[in-house]
Amino acid sequence: MNVLIEDKKWSLYEEAIRNDVCAYCCEMGEDGQCHRDSSQECGVRKYLPKLIDIAHRLENDMNMDDYLRAVRFEICNHCDNQREDGTCDVRDSVNCALDRYLSLAFDAVATVRAGKQ
Ligand code: SF4
Ligand code: SF4
Repeated sequence: MNVLIEDKKWSLYEEAIRNDVCAYCCEMGEDGQCHRDSSQECGVRKYLPKLIDIAHRLENDMNMDDYLRAVRFEICNHCDNQREDGTCDVRDSVNCALDRYLSLAFDAVATVRAGKQ
C-alpha cells in the first residue's frame, strides 16, 4: 500500500524528479518538455508513488543495492514489460527511464525525505 503523501510533499517530490532526473534525461528537449513517445509511459513518472513508498519502508537504511532489489521485486515483477523469467526487453534496450535513471531518482527521493529540498 502506498504511504499517504501530503500535497505539499508530493509537489516537492515532483519538483525533485523534474530537476534531478528529467533535467538529465536524454528525452528532455531543449524546450524543457519531455519528448518521450506518448505511447511509452515513463516509468519514473508512472511509478513515482511506489518509489517513494519503497524509500519510506527502507527508512534510514536506504542504500542503492536494497533500493534496486525492492524496485525489481515490487515494480518490475508487476510491470507488463517483464517476462516470467525476469528479463525485460525495454530494460535491455536501455529504454526504461526508470531503470536508466534509478540512481538519480533514488537521490532525488532521498533528498526530499531528508528535508533538504
Ligand atoms: S522520459 Fe521520464 S525521466 Fe525522462 S524527461 Fe520524460 S518524464 Fe522525465
Ligand atoms: S525495467 Fe522493465 S520491468 Fe522494470 S519498470 Fe522498466 S520496463 Fe518495467
